[in-house]
Amino acid sequence: MSFLHQDKIIPPDEEAGEKAPACPRCKQEMWLVVITKNTSDEGTDDWLTYECKKCGDVVEVERPGSPA
Ligand SMILES: [Zn+2]
Repeated sequence: MSFLHQDKIIPPDEEAGEKAPACPRCKQEMWLVVITKNTSDEGTDDWLTYECKKCGDVVEVERPGSPA
């Protein structure tokens, strides 16, 4: 994959700014597949869903967002 320098387009994994976790089963690096925004009175949290491309295992990681 190659990216042009465009500020408007941010790949999901770049936006997340986090290293993907290793798969608990096969230790492969997992892929970020979904970012779910969860807005509450305390701010917006992100739920990052990672999927292992090898065994299909899925892990969800909560990333606290900025306070409202
Ligand atoms: Zn796996």
